[in-house]
Order: sequence, then C-alpha cells, then structure tokens
Amino acid sequence: MNQDVTEEQIATVVTKIQDLGHSVNISRGTNRIVIGAIGDEHKLDPEMFDSLPGVEFSMHIVKQYKIVSRESHKQDSIIDVHGIPIGGNQIQVIGGPCSVETPEQMDLAAQSVAAAGCRLMRGGAFKPRTSPYTFQGRGKDGLEIFRQAANKYNLPIVTELMDVRMLDTFLEQEVDVIQIGTRNMQNFDLLKEVGRINKPVILKRGISATINEWLMAAEYIAAGGNHNIIFCERGIRTFETAYRNVLDVTCIPVLKRETHLPVIIDPSHAGGKAWMVPALSRAAIAAGADGLLVETHPNPCEAWCDADQALNPQEFKDLMVSLKGIAAAIGRTI
Ligand code: PEP
Ligand code: MN
Repeated sequence: MNQDVTEEQIATVVTKIQDLGHSVNISRGTNRIVIGAIGDEHKLDPEMFDSLPGVEFSMHIVKQYKIVSRESHKQDSIIDVHGIPIGGNQIQVIGGPCSVETPEQMDLAAQSVAAAGCRLMRGGAFKPRTSPYTFQGRGKDGLEIFRQAANKYNLPIVTELMDVRMLDTFLEQEVDVIQIGTRNMQNFDLLKEVGRINKPVILKRGISATINEWLMAAEYIAAGGNHNIIFCERGIRTFETAYRNVLDVTCIPVLKRETHLPVIIDPSHAGGKAWMVPALSRAAIAAGADGLLVETHPNPCEAWCDADQALNPQEFKDLMVSLKGIAAAIGRTI
C-alpha cells in the first residue's frame, strides 16, 4: 500500500480479497503495509487491485503457470512419439525440408533424413509466409505427399498447423506431432484446440515472446488436458541484423529449471544461413537441448522456401556425426 494509506482504504482492499473467497494477512512494517491474499492465487489478477485507492502495486508471488511448471512435476517429462522418446537421455534430431514440394523431393528428403540416423521428419504443408504472394504450401495434398514419403522410411511426421479448421485433416492424415509456429504462439484459440487432443505438440517461441509468455502459452495447451508439449526455441528478434534471428541459448537452462517438459532448438530459423547451422546445433546440444529441428533439402538451391538455410544431405549427415561427439561428452546419446 502507499505510505500514506488510510485505514479505510486498507479495509476496502481487505473486503475485496474476502469477497473473492480468500483470506487476508496484513503485515504492518515501519514504513509499509503489505496485504496478502491467501488461497488459490491463480484466480486473482493484479489488475483487480491496482486501481483501488491506497494501493501502490499488486503482484503474484507464485508463478502463473502450474501444469507445465517444474514445481508441479519434479521429474523430466518424456514425450512418446510412437515409441520414440523426446526429453529422455537420447537426443532427437528432426530433419526435413521447410516445405513439402513434390513426391520426388519428399522421397529424397525422407531417404536422407533416415540415412543420417534421424527418427522423425519435419516438413510444412501450410506455410506462414511474410508475403501473401509467395508459395503458401501445398496444403492438404502436401500432407498426403509427406505421409507417404515418411511412411516408406518409417518416420513419424512433424508439421505445422496454422488454422484450427485444418485440425480434423491433420488427425485424418495421422500427423504424429503438431507444430505451432512462432507466429501462432499466442493464438489462444488454436492452443486451446490442440489442448483438447492428445497428440504431441511442438510449441515454437514467438518472435518476441518472453519466456513467461511462452510458458503461459504452453499452459493453455496443458490446461485443456494435453500435456504432450515440447518447447522449441527458433531465435528471437533483437537489434542485430547480421543473422535472421538471435538463437537464445540461455533459454535452455532457464526452461529446464522452470518446466519439466522437453526443450528443442531450431538452429535453421535462428541463423537463417546453412553455414551457421552446425555451430548453433552444437551449442544447443552442449547447453542441454533435448533435440533439434533442422531444415535439410535434397537440393537446397532449388528449395521453394528457406533455401538459404537448408543443409544438403551430405552436410546434414556430417552434422549428425559431429553431434554424436557433443552428446557423448555430456553423457547423452543421439
Ligand atoms: C518452420 O518451421 O518452417 C517455420 C515456419 O518456423 P517458425 O514458425 O519458427 O518461423
Ligand atoms: Mn522454414
């Protein structure tokens, strides 16, 4: 409360807290009076009190996320994708092109992803492009092409859902992991819908999202009953223009402390250039990431989307080999 708070103003706050079903603890210090609300804090919002006369400021003292928090679940969660663990000792590298283009391209891509030793494949059929005049993805056909190519090499598929109206199609095509892209991290209706199913969800970090906002976005999914969530850092926007985004490696230990859910890194959208991908990947694994989401294309020069950042099959294979050494050094496998 403000220093010159009156007893009447204190009484107003106390009554409000009690009316909201909480009990009250008043702490009278030499300079300040602090009023504590005791009960389920999640039901209260600082905004309910900030505008009352005599209030200096109000704040939560517990974190707003519950289900995704490490406090609520001490052990690391392992997300199971058809027997493939994400979040355990084994690191998963999810490789594949930015977008699904043709059956031939997807067949070659799946072949090289499997040959490099990956257990899961990525590819976008619905693309969130900055310009409405560029390739927007193959859509439903793309999902079918992807499914067929991945089935041939026994790879579960990871693909982005942009529109809630496509969820049934995703379920029909048996998409194994739904990716929520950076632009949709706070599309709360979309988050609620993927919260109602029980498929694993990769939740990418919003381009300018704080870690708290990202955790709260995950809480939206978890609150619906779906706890199969994987965080994916893909670079954030800063003042730096020398690369596409800034890979926030610091978020890895912070998320590991705050949440029990797995954390993976997308070095491709972070750096934006293929030559940066190996260094960023190694840094991510060394810092404790549970996996990577990496763009690779049978022929990057001809990629319809994000050509500059795609590794060719040989570069991708070499990356997998070099990551084995990093994984071994920190007692993990890949
Ligand atoms: C992608 O993975 O192809 C993609 C569009 O990623 P982001 O949402 O991180 O930009
Ligand atoms: Mn891309």
